[in-house]
Amino acid sequence: MKISRRQFLFTAAASLGAAGIAAAAGKNDVDKLHEARYYKKLPQRKIECELCPRRCVIDDMERGYCGVRENHGGVYYSLVYGQVCSANIDPIEKKPLFHFLPGAKAFSIATVGCNVMCKFCQNWEISQANVDQVKSMELLPAQTAAIAKDRRCEVIAYTYTEPVVFTEYMYDCAVEGRKAGVRSVMISNGYINAQPMKDLCNVLDAVKIDLKAFNERFYRELVAGELKPVLDTLVLLKKQKMWTEIVYLVIPGQNDDPGELREMCTWIKNDLGPETPVHFSRFHPQYRLTNIPATPLEVLRKARRIGLECGLYYVYTGNVPGDEGESTYCPNCGAVVIKRFGFSVLSRALKDGRCVACGRAIAGVWS
Ligand code: SF4
Repeated sequence: MKISRRQFLFTAAASLGAAGIAAAAGKNDVDKLHEARYYKKLPQRKIECELCPRRCVIDDMERGYCGVRENHGGVYYSLVYGQVCSANIDPIEKKPLFHFLPGAKAFSIATVGCNVMCKFCQNWEISQANVDQVKSMELLPAQTAAIAKDRRCEVIAYTYTEPVVFTEYMYDCAVEGRKAGVRSVMISNGYINAQPMKDLCNVLDAVKIDLKAFNERFYRELVAGELKPVLDTLVLLKKQKMWTEIVYLVIPGQNDDPGELREMCTWIKNDLGPETPVHFSRFHPQYRLTNIPATPLEVLRKARRIGLECGLYYVYTGNVPGDEGESTYCPNCGAVVIKRFGFSVLSRALKDGRCVACGRAIAGVWS
C-alpha cells in the first residue's frame, strides 16, 4: 500500500543524483554493521545468501541483488538493520488485513530495499533506491517496540518496501514487540526461502502476501521474480497456522484473464482453504507502467465474483472506497459482519468471532 503523505511520520526520500553510486562500506564502518543470518561461506571469501530464492553468490566487498546485504571478507552483513527510512501509523485495514484486529493501529516501518523489481511498484522511491542515497534514522528493535507501545499501536507492521530483505531487524523487533505486548505483521511478496519464513512464524502474528499473478511469465517480465516460491510460501504459512491474507493487484490486460483468476482462486480454495481472505485491488498507473489505465471497476467486481463462485468465503475489492466488496459478509446467512468504508470500520456484527445474526464462526484473529 502506498505511503500516505498525510499520515507520514518519517519518510526519507532518495536524494537521487546527489551522492552518486556509493562504494561498499569502508573497513571502519563494518563494526557498526549487523551480521546477516541465512548465508553460507564459500571459498575465496565468497558467500551464498540463503534468505530468498535468488540465492545470490557474492564476492568479497559486493552486495546481493537486493542491494542491502554486503560481503566483507567472507562475512555477510545487513546494511539496513535498525535503519528505518519510513515510519507511519496506519490503520491495519490499509495493509490490508481485514480479519486481524479490525480497527487496530499499526506502527508501520520500512528500510530501503527489495528482492524483486516490480514495474508497477507503488513505493519504488525507497524499495528500488540505493541504500547509500536514502536518509534513514536509527531505530533499534527495543526502541521500535517502545514507540509502538507509546503511540498505542496494537501492532508493528513491516511494510512499504520488502521486509524479507530486513529479516534480521524484523525478527528482533517482533521479539521486542512481544515483550511489550505489541503484535507483528509482515506485509510481503512471499519471495523467501522456507527456513527464514519458518523462523519468522515463531514471532509474527499475521502475514499479508502479494500474489502478483498466477503465471510465471508475468513474474519473469513484470516482477523479475518467480511464482512457484511464492506459492510454496503460502502453503508453508498454512502449515504453520499463520493467519494469512492475499492481495492481488488487478492490472488490465496483464493479469486479469478470467480463466487464470478462476484457476488461482480454485488453487487457493483447495490448497489454502476457503477461509483465506483474498483482496482484488485496483491498479493505478505508476512507476514503469504509466501506459496502462486504472483497473475498471467492473473488472475488479468480476474478479470478486469469480472468487466467490470458486467457493472462497471472503473476497474483497480494494482501493475502491464505498464499494460493497469492502465489507465482510457471513458465508452462512449473508449478514454484514464488518461494514467498512475505505480504511475505516463503520460497524461490526461480530461477537467472540461469530456472526451475531446466525452464530457462524468467522475466520480471523479478532482479539
Ligand atoms: S535476500 Fe538479497 S542477497 Fe539474499 S538472495 Fe535475496 S536478493 Fe540475493
